[in-house]
Amino acid sequence: MGIRKLSRKDYLNILETILFIDFLKGLSVTLRNLLRKPITTEYPREKLTPPKRFRGAHGHFVWDGTEPDSLKAIEKFMSFEKGKSRCVACYMCQTACPMPTLFRIEAVQLPDGRKKVVRFDMNLLNCLFCGLCVDACPVGCLTMTDLYELAGYSRRDEVLNMEKLEAFGIDYKNRRGDEPDRIWPRDEEREKLWGKIEWSG
Ligand code: SF4
Ligand code: SF4
Repeated sequence: MGIRKLSRKDYLNILETILFIDFLKGLSVTLRNLLRKPITTEYPREKLTPPKRFRGAHGHFVWDGTEPDSLKAIEKFMSFEKGKSRCVACYMCQTACPMPTLFRIEAVQLPDGRKKVVRFDMNLLNCLFCGLCVDACPVGCLTMTDLYELAGYSRRDEVLNMEKLEAFGIDYKNRRGDEPDRIWPRDEEREKLWGKIEWSG
């Protein structure tokens, strides 16, 4: 058996092994990141406010006197109560949803001929949080809030009924209703995650 002549590449490989070049390269990456500011947060001690367009738990905007005139015209056909959901039971959200069975929407006709929504349940266990239902709502009733801590102790806990939806909608509007529709509401939070982005507005 003859002795194989080493090529230039073989010599370089041996040299790299002797001088721990790969090890030093890896170590330099570790050291560089050791000195950087961490991009992680210490949840749940530290909680970030999600962007306004975040798709969290759903909510219903309620009838509160701030509706546009076009919406007020619907009062002839719908029985709305102040502080209660402005849903008109049109089923557009359910129709647009890829999982329509997660909705239970019921309405009744009152003696004066107007319609009243009496049930609106959403089972979030089947929800994809795609937002199609929100886009489909013709009266701006359905929204998605910034609430993301949705864990519960039972399956029943994951069903949002009218009361919960109204409460989430009121809370969301009070906290963030006046905020401009920006991706990141607070620059320092965005920069913590993504660094400084010059073009973001
Ligand atoms: S977010 Fe998507 S999956 Fe969830 S209820 Fe709306 S349309 Fe359905
Ligand atoms: S689309 Fe809007 S108004 Fe129609 S049933 Fe759904 S939440 Fe109610």
